[in-house]
Amino acid sequence: MPTSMLKFVSVDQRMPEKRDAEARRRDFQEVYARFDPAAASEQAGRCSQCGIPFCQVHCPLHNNIPDWLMLTAEGRLEEAYEVASSTNNMPEICGRICPQDRLCEGNCVLEQSRHGTVTIGSVEKYITETAWDRGWIRPPRPPRELEQSVGIIGGGPAGLAAAEQLRRKGYQVSVYDRYDRIGGLLIYGIPNFKLEKEAVTRRTELLADGGVDFHCGVEIGRELSFADLRQRHDAVLVATGVYKARDIACPGVGLANIQPALDFLIASNRKGLGDDVPAFDDGSLDAADKRIVVIGGGDTAMDCVRTAVRQGARSVKCLYRRNRANMPGSHREVSHAEEEGVEFVWLAAPEAFLGDGAVRGVRAARMRLGVADATGRQTPQPVEGSSFTAEADIVIKALGFDPEDLQGLFGCAELATTRWGTLKIDHKTMMTNVDGVFAAGDIVRGASLVVWAIRDGRDAAASIHAYLSAKVAGEPAAAVAAE
Ligand SMILES: Cc1cc2nc3c(=O)[nH]c(=O)nc-3n(C[C@H](O)[C@H](O)[C@H](O)COP(=O)(O)OP(=O)(O)OC[C@H]3O[C@@H](n4cnc5c(N)ncnc54)[C@H](O)[C@@H]3O)c2cc1C
Ligand code: SF4
Repeated sequence: MPTSMLKFVSVDQRMPEKRDAEARRRDFQEVYARFDPAAASEQAGRCSQCGIPFCQVHCPLHNNIPDWLMLTAEGRLEEAYEVASSTNNMPEICGRICPQDRLCEGNCVLEQSRHGTVTIGSVEKYITETAWDRGWIRPPRPPRELEQSVGIIGGGPAGLAAAEQLRRKGYQVSVYDRYDRIGGLLIYGIPNFKLEKEAVTRRTELLADGGVDFHCGVEIGRELSFADLRQRHDAVLVATGVYKARDIACPGVGLANIQPALDFLIASNRKGLGDDVPAFDDGSLDAADKRIVVIGGGDTAMDCVRTAVRQGARSVKCLYRRNRANMPGSHREVSHAEEEGVEFVWLAAPEAFLGDGAVRGVRAARMRLGVADATGRQTPQPVEGSSFTAEADIVIKALGFDPEDLQGLFGCAELATTRWGTLKIDHKTMMTNVDGVFAAGDIVRGASLVVWAIRDGRDAAASIHAYLSAKVAGEPAAAVAAE
């Protein structure tokens, strides 16, 4: 049985990255005006309503999946939407980009018994797109305004989920982001062919309509100091994500056209949004007609190879030092990339970048997997005399991200961090060791998933509410825990 029976047309199947922003918006509206209710209802009706809903257990938000599937099968879509949105601030976004094969769908009992999973993510997207279409989704307008205010650093999914939850309770919420657009990696990391930017801006506009104040182009620690921000607000949430790209220590790494993954993806996303991107226009971040080598095996690497294909690359190779079974990225994504013509070179690691001024190739060594390290993963070791060269006009480094130095940036040496540089929090209250300063999303977990960022944002909002309520009541803050 096919795993996907819903006929959602991907905007990018009809539309290359380089269309202008207005045309994208029109296409987006047109495509999502054409739902396929019969397919959604058929999929939803396949749910066996099993006693222990493993899908729900393995969804980080513990979405009540069996209930909204049942309501969808019965055609009660508004109720299905109410259930789906009661635990998730962006169900249509999760429906598009959650790695469902590792979460809800991978644990569906039908999938486990080899009958093919219910396409939970697609139904979730269908329910919520219907809700948008029919005007069931409303801005967060609280029944009464509260005087207390919360400052949120970072407008990614963690910050946005927290902003919505807090605004619904009546707090004055301000979101500060150093980018010129709100959405974090939803806008500038994840490519448009996986997540149309209109789906993100629509959410941001809804929050702005509900009274959330957005301050774009404001980097906390530069344009506004962390101390001033704390003065302005009764509580602060740090949801800054992780952006320090890991590098490769190889000879030749300084050659031109060896690019960090996020630079490549941001350029592509900006171009799709209609921005001027000189580094794209001069060819250094445009894969068209070029031989592209991507180094890495995670989801970011998959986004790079698939973006390069869409930009019209001459060839796209992905070098990963472990084998297919041990790659960190979604296996579904690898299959998609293979279908699109990407060549995977497993068990290969770069030794040197070759070229004269600009990169012309990557000399790589074949690897074999040796003994397991402390984490249980087999360590890759080079096979002697196995070097080969992969020709390249652009090399993209996609080796993952670490946290930036927030203590330094915020001028707050007492802000406690873990040995990985992520923020230390009390996991019951989501508060850092600095009074009234909470943290959520990747800056706490390290590079993770949108659905976990939403979960953290919601948990942090509940804790901030408990903290501020206690403050008003004159109770000690230390006694406060999330509801
Ligand atoms: C290329 C790529 C593809 C991905 N694909 C997927 C996917 O398909 N599915 C999935 O579930 N997850 C995916 N992820 C992971 C997911 O995007 C992140 O886990 C998620 O966005 C984290 O949310 P966040 O709110 O913590 O941080 P972010 O989304 O990173 O948002 C943080 C925001 O904080 C802002 N900021 C940082 N510092 C400051 C400061 N000092 N002052 C003001 N603003 C600041 C940044 O500008 C940014 O807008 C992907 C990640 C990458 C890099
Ligand atoms: S939020 Fe993600 S994991 Fe949860 S039901 Fe939706 S698609 Fe599945």
